[in-house]
Amino acid sequence: MGAVCTLSSLKEEMERAVREMEAERTRGYQALLQTLRCLAGKQIRNMATIGGNILSANPKYDLNSVLAALDCTLQVMSKENGTRAITLNEELFTGFGKTALRPDEVLLSIDIPYSKPWEFVSAFRQAQRREFAFSIVNAGMKVLFREGTNIVESLNIYYGGVGPTLVKVGRTCQKLVGRSWGEELLADACRLLEEEVELSDSAHGGKVEYRKTLTTSFFFKFYMQVLQELRERVHIQDKHNP
Ligand SMILES: Cc1cc2nc3c(=O)[nH]c(=O)nc-3n(C[C@H](O)[C@H](O)[C@H](O)COP(=O)(O)OP(=O)(O)OC[C@H]3O[C@@H](n4cnc5c(N)ncnc54)[C@H](O)[C@@H]3O)c2cc1C
Repeated sequence: MGAVCTLSSLKEEMERAVREMEAERTRGYQALLQTLRCLAGKQIRNMATIGGNILSANPKYDLNSVLAALDCTLQVMSKENGTRAITLNEELFTGFGKTALRPDEVLLSIDIPYSKPWEFVSAFRQAQRREFAFSIVNAGMKVLFREGTNIVESLNIYYGGVGPTLVKVGRTCQKLVGRSWGEELLADACRLLEEEVELSDSAHGGKVEYRKTLTTSFFFKFYMQVLQELRERVHIQDKHNP
């Protein structure tokens, strides 16, 4: 996607891809659509650009958590140094409203990869209203399983709204790799998230207890969605390979 595409045209492109392509390849796009449908309102989406949303570096804006979970790449360019690719992750955001882009660089485009088989993605946001309200907490989550199993091969969990910048819960993700997607993993994930998401009582924005609870309840939702899809797949596979 070109950096100056509006959020409305991003939404249209994602909808077209979801309509025309295999569902398995567009799981990431479906997750983006979950967010885009509630992001601000149509008037704002008609004006706001994907590049502007990312580079505003505002953790209450919704796209960065899901784009980071999807392992998106940014193509940036400067007159002096030409083009370079950078990964959209927590390291891109150096402070509230600040990014690691050099002052002479502009963002050209964003590569949003297709999903792999056995990869599941979701985006979450909680706000005071469905539309026209900034999210209190937003999240992007992606899990990849070892083919044909429920063993986690890699896991990405990003949160916005729990600090001045985008937060990756890297320790939690690392500890869940290699584990089966089951109740023990769920219990450990909730404990690890509570330990890793740091929000002091005086954190900017208040609602500390509520925001911490949202981080675990989003993961619980993700766990349940993925579990259901995994069960359906195993069932389908069993039918074809009795
Ligand atoms: C009333 C209102 C409600 C909103 N609600 C939400 C919401 O619920 N969720 C949400 O995610 N967002 C929300 N937004 C934010 C909105 O989606 C836009 O992302 C935001 O307003 C930035 O606007 P813009 O895209 O025009 O970027 P700009 O204002 O043009 O740019 C923002 C920053 O990015 C830099 N920039 C932009 N493009 C480039 C580029 N190509 N290369 C280098 N730097 C660049 C600019 O220099 C600037 O610093 C809301 C905005 C408003 C006004």
